[in-house]
Amino acid sequence: MFENKLLDNLTIGILVLDAAFKVKYLNKRMKNILKIEKIDFSKLEVLLKNLNFTFNGKFRVKSSKIQIDKKIFFQLEFHENPETSTNKFVAMLDTIQDFIFYLDSEGKIEYFNKAYENHLGKAYLEIIGEKESKFYPDDMAIKCDQNNEIALKLGNFYEEEYFYGKWYQTFKSRVNLGNNEYGIFGMVKDITDSKKKVIDLSEKVYKDALTGIYNRNFYEEKITDIFKNKKEQIYSMLLIDIDKFKNINDFNGHDVGDWVLKRLCNILKRNVRQSNDFIIRLGGDEILIIIEGEKDNLEKILNRIEKDILLENSSNDLKFTISIGIGERKKCETLDSLYKRVDVELYKNKNRGK
Ligand code: GH3
Ligand code: MG
Repeated sequence: MFENKLLDNLTIGILVLDAAFKVKYLNKRMKNILKIEKIDFSKLEVLLKNLNFTFNGKFRVKSSKIQIDKKIFFQLEFHENPETSTNKFVAMLDTIQDFIFYLDSEGKIEYFNKAYENHLGKAYLEIIGEKESKFYPDDMAIKCDQNNEIALKLGNFYEEEYFYGKWYQTFKSRVNLGNNEYGIFGMVKDITDSKKKVIDLSEKVYKDALTGIYNRNFYEEKITDIFKNKKEQIYSMLLIDIDKFKNINDFNGHDVGDWVLKRLCNILKRNVRQSNDFIIRLGGDEILIIIEGEKDNLEKILNRIEKDILLENSSNDLKFTISIGIGERKKCETLDSLYKRVDVELYKNKNRGK
């Protein structure tokens, strides 16, 4: 059993024939060779007169006669001829920067190119025959085995995956070897650089450079979509506008105005923390907060924001105040309609304060 496993791990084909040229043993590699190559055993009889010969132009065969229990056997080692197209193909795959590999149906690695060998950071003999998932931390290993199962079940698997600071584009497909035997062809590309560029770009498109919160593009594209897709969801909206911001700029300079905007946004960021809450700078000194759920929750957040502004003002000579409009989405109300109601309320509050 142990010996069989060892022989199956070899990258050369082993074939043992008895004196009547009947097959007595073949290892896994030999089985694979026989699937592709037609072997005429009567021809072998002639060839076996030599100790070394070339077979089908693709294999260099080393033969030896062995005697076991007084019986004669022929042991043949099939080495791939370096000049064959198979080897050229393998050499070609080694020039590719993507990870290319072939797994058996249990996810054990039967072939891998140089790029994958470098990525795994192990020697050839430590990789070959091992389960692919063995080389990864637990969470990645579970995902790796699941991906293989999907490829075997559905025919192929494709996903962009993120692990430990890197993005990978993973493609795996089922290979049909006939006789109900299957393997998996794998191709994995490190797409970290291009993915980062896309993420950086969307940061620029959807984020306000001064304050780091979302901008009007985000409101018009993403929030509009969210409101369209989640018609039944309750949302609450808080519109904030700095009082007499123009005066702050005029008396202290634009830089100080910028600094006030940043201070306000830092307070907002501290108090609005759920992943599906949004803080958006619609333009100038007008900032919008949108959260999922009832107005009561947003009023609690507003209380905290107002306390933080008082605290901030108490420790700074330059003080600022805000006016607000607050509202809750009516059933199926559009984003535009909710905004208009909240804006009217802000306007009323502002005039009340003047
Ligand atoms: P109100 O109390 O009615 O809100 O008056 P206000 O002065 O705050 O409002 P108004 O809309 O008249 O002025 C907003 C000002 O915000 C005008 C503009 O110069 C300033 N502003 C817009 N964007 C920026 C910015 O990025 N940085 C700075 N420092 N100022 C900005
Ligand atoms: Mg203002």
